[in-house]
Amino acid sequence: MENVLEIDDLHTSFFTRHGEVQAVRGVSFSLAKGEILGVVGESGSGKSVTAMSVMQLLGRGGKITGGSVRFGDTDLVTLPEEQLRDVRGARISMVFQDPMSSLNPLITVGKQVQEMLDTHTQLSKAEAKARVLELFALVRIPEPERRYDSYPHEFSGGMRQRVMIAMALACDPEVLIADEPTTALDVTIQDQILRILRRLQAELGMSVVFITHDLGVVAELCSRVIVMYGGTIVEEGTLDEIFTHTAHPYTLGLLKSVPRIDGDRGHRLESIPGSPPDLLDPPKGCPFAARCEFARNICSETPPPEVRLSETHTSRCHLLAQAAPSENNPFAEMR
Ligand code: SF4
Ligand code: MG
Repeated sequence: MENVLEIDDLHTSFFTRHGEVQAVRGVSFSLAKGEILGVVGESGSGKSVTAMSVMQLLGRGGKITGGSVRFGDTDLVTLPEEQLRDVRGARISMVFQDPMSSLNPLITVGKQVQEMLDTHTQLSKAEAKARVLELFALVRIPEPERRYDSYPHEFSGGMRQRVMIAMALACDPEVLIADEPTTALDVTIQDQILRILRRLQAELGMSVVFITHDLGVVAELCSRVIVMYGGTIVEEGTLDEIFTHTAHPYTLGLLKSVPRIDGDRGHRLESIPGSPPDLLDPPKGCPFAARCEFARNICSETPPPEVRLSETHTSRCHLLAQAAPSENNPFAEMR
């Protein structure tokens, strides 16, 4: 399948008073045309920073220190800011967790979406307004005409997130990056937003990177999953590979902390004891070593190699590397 985005050996750091925080440390993955890729991990795993690196929105102190982000024929890392502006928001767009802080409270929601079109398209005022109403209908905002003139505070959290999605879709992006877009919403609203995203992806055929800490959401939406920990990718696979052929202790831990869909009462929710590594001084071996119940001496000494279990499934763990090919996944029975 054709790839729209190819990220290769990305390194991103934040230079702080305390030193260099190595937030992303050698991340490589690709996004195929028309797929929904889930990126999961705890906060601080580097998933948002990876997304911000793609968009070159790292803010002060943030810097890509290595690697490339290929989008078509261009490497976004070396693209001048002026040309980046044509990509950002138009060809690659983003939806964030908190729609209130991304919307201007003083401007009506209709105008805010329209501004996006004014910046990136040649549409006339009337055409742009018509397009906004069309977008509002697309994200199922009721009574688009009337709602066009509403201010953000007149909308519920779920409705504001629909406005943000409408804005993100305004210029028909090839890639939509959604960073925890439903985390701040209650479960029913979360469900509605996920349904909208799934339908829009199918109708518009764009590619989606969906960032979340919630494997339950990934199961509902994504076809492929990347699991991040300590600024690195620890496992990558199809939904089935990640959920039923789990091949990394950290992924196993995440799965044990997801409520079962079948509501099995006997299933106890466990969270992974310990906390993520300090990326001011990243561990030299496996980033998960301090919390891993399977850790051996080698784990804290040497970074685990990438082990390929299938054409689509990879994991970074010393136990896998050491297992005989016949028993290539020692974690298979542990879920
Ligand atoms: Fe655990 Fe070692 Fe595998 Fe890391 S490499 S996940 S510490 S067993
Ligand atoms: Mg985040």
